[in-house]
Amino acid sequence: MALCDYAICHKCEGKAFYDANISDPAYCATWDPEEESDPIGIAVLCAECNKTYEAIIVLRECNE
Ligand SMILES: [Zn+2]
Repeated sequence: MALCDYAICHKCEGKAFYDANISDPAYCATWDPEEESDPIGIAVLCAECNKTYEAIIVLRECNE
């Protein structure tokens, strides 16, 4: 499977999960600039990085 068919781990840039069959417009908008939906926010950790790291949600700096 091609690397572009996977959501990439934000820590190590390895494959995190297969996302080529996810067609939700809000998800597709995270990588497709032509998608009309607003993109959702996603923090991704692969299974290995998830053993020692966690994703934390913080306010965007532009909102402070
Ligand atoms: Zn990783």
